[in-house]
Amino acid sequence: MIVGVTGGIGSGKSTVVNFFLELGNIAFYHADIEAKNIINSSVKVKTKIEAFFGKEAYKDNVLNKKYISNIVFHNPESLKQLNAIVHPEVKKHFKNFVNQHKNKEYILYENAILFETKSHHTCDFIISVYCDLKTRISRIKNRDNISENAILDRINNQWKEDKKLLQSNYLITNFAQIETKNQVNHIHNILTKKRKLI
Ligand code: ATP
Repeated sequence: MIVGVTGGIGSGKSTVVNFFLELGNIAFYHADIEAKNIINSSVKVKTKIEAFFGKEAYKDNVLNKKYISNIVFHNPESLKQLNAIVHPEVKKHFKNFVNQHKNKEYILYENAILFETKSHHTCDFIISVYCDLKTRISRIKNRDNISENAILDRINNQWKEDKKLLQSNYLITNFAQIETKNQVNHIHNILTKKRKLI
């Protein structure tokens, strides 16, 4: 069973995932981290990115984020192209991961852009993590030490919260940690019971 975890930047996805992982024998796949690994390690992906963006796309075999960000920020078509190169490879990698973790209670699949990349179709259940914009901005500022404008740029590149919430099976509101934990416990109980029925 694949359980998608999504939500806006800084809503608390990783915090929620960590609470789930304390509860059982659960596999975890972080789409963003795996995508970064694939970009830097797959020869196929590297060749395609260099063919499109030029040799400067990589520096010492690592994606030159500054160079790429500058291009995609000013040219949305090139962002589409980058996604078209990377996303199919991440999807393939995730499929293998799922096959290798069939013995787990369920698989948590964290993806900030779950709906935007149409990855929700691979999930049996979808959890959205919600927190208000002001709190998210303040938490990200503390965590990443970046400007409010940089945070807002990232937020504006993602779907609006209500659009995500309407397509989710569960909603976790992430304010006080103790209440977040209670919601996670509740959902874990439902998921482990449901698994027996599937
Ligand atoms: P991103 O989209 O950037 O990957 P995220 O949605 O995974 O972020 P987290 O990394 O879990 O969000 O949380 C963002 C920051 O807020 C972290 O520093 C985390 O420790 C803090 N945080 C998360 N939830 C809470 C909470 N309930 N109370 C206080 N701080 C929190």
